[in-house]
Amino acid sequence: MSVIEVKNLYKIFGQKPEKAFPLLEKGLSKKEILKKTGNTVAIDNASFSIERKEIFVIMGLSGSGKSTVIRCLNRLIDPTRGTVSIDGNDIVKMNKEELREVRRTKMSMVFQHFGLLPHRTVQHNVEYGLEISGIEKSLRAQKAVEAIKLVGLEGYEESMINELSGGMQQRVGLARALANDPEILLMDEAFSALDPLIRTQMQDELLELQAKMHKTIVFITHDLDEALKLGDRIAIMGNGGKIIQIGTPEEILTEPKDDYVKAFLLNVDRTKVITASAIMRKPYTITIPKDGPGVAVRTMDKHGQSTLFAVDSDRILKGIVHVKDMVKLQQNKEKSVEAELVEDIYLTTPDTSIADLLPTALVANYPLAVIDENKKLLGVVDQASIIAEVGGESAESITPVSLNEYSA
Ligand code: ADP
Repeated sequence: MSVIEVKNLYKIFGQKPEKAFPLLEKGLSKKEILKKTGNTVAIDNASFSIERKEIFVIMGLSGSGKSTVIRCLNRLIDPTRGTVSIDGNDIVKMNKEELREVRRTKMSMVFQHFGLLPHRTVQHNVEYGLEISGIEKSLRAQKAVEAIKLVGLEGYEESMINELSGGMQQRVGLARALANDPEILLMDEAFSALDPLIRTQMQDELLELQAKMHKTIVFITHDLDEALKLGDRIAIMGNGGKIIQIGTPEEILTEPKDDYVKAFLLNVDRTKVITASAIMRKPYTITIPKDGPGVAVRTMDKHGQSTLFAVDSDRILKGIVHVKDMVKLQQNKEKSVEAELVEDIYLTTPDTSIADLLPTALVANYPLAVIDENKKLLGVVDQASIIAEVGGESAESITPVSLNEYSA
């Protein structure tokens, strides 16, 4: 069920925003509208819904309207037109009191530049938001301690913010946002100011936290790698304030909607994002103990394989058999493959990236078995399909356009 539902959202900055609409309808660009009316089209007819517990990433170049969108979600910015429903209630129509209640209980925001009080302690900063919400003193101390622990800053409660590194400061920002246990976390370029290594670490930690907390997270970034790593779904904004495409990382990568999205993708290492599940095929199998060497040889012959995976009647993977061994068993009139069943084989999971599969694929002389957590065989990945992806679809098949020239 969606928690946030945005419909036909517009934000026009300027003196007479309504003047921009007829021109937008005529198809004039953001640049032309600015020239003619002095108004800036920051969001142009955005509609999307965000599911409970998903990480929804809004990505685009600087100036594409991302911050404006996220600020319309908690009405730090008033939309010019459109609706923003939070759990079915339109936030655009709320009075001050209702709005405060939603902000207090339902959502918190984490900012790029942390937005902390530099000369105060970690504890004080995390409690601050709770204090504003009118939460009683001992409860707020307790909640702050819990949130600080959650982001791994236990022991730093009394440190001053300005004594901390950027990464630690942003942890405090995150702790402050988490302290009132909001359902929705709005993160505006929250990791963009951090050094690359710290940034990667924070991304990993956010994913770990999310696995425990199951919040609904709206995450803004201009970085596609970050978007692909964090997003359950990604909305890509173009330069004209329009949303160009919404999809899973896989969909964005494999079916980019237009040249703007393709231009973004040119800089991405696809192998880090495409997973085993995307390239696996149906496996050829025998079911043991029912099937013996005879069935194995016949099946291999029929499908042109030199190996087969053996599963039990629940499709649980038991091992692999090789054609030469099966022929030998057959000649010895054996009824079972067991004597030659190889149990020590290379395995992988559906969400393993191709980049991570490659080293194994290069040494294994048979397809890799893709299994779930119960060892059920889901599919197999052939060496050739991995190599095709790694060296495959070259940049030449994509016509590059300059992102800055493109206007959606
Ligand atoms: P992003 O977050 O993608 O960098 P923004 O949402 O900050 O983009 O900005 C979208 C557009 O709106 C830009 O053209 C920006 O110049 C303009 N804009 C943002 N805030 C204001 C404002 N307060 N007044 C006028 N124009 C603004």
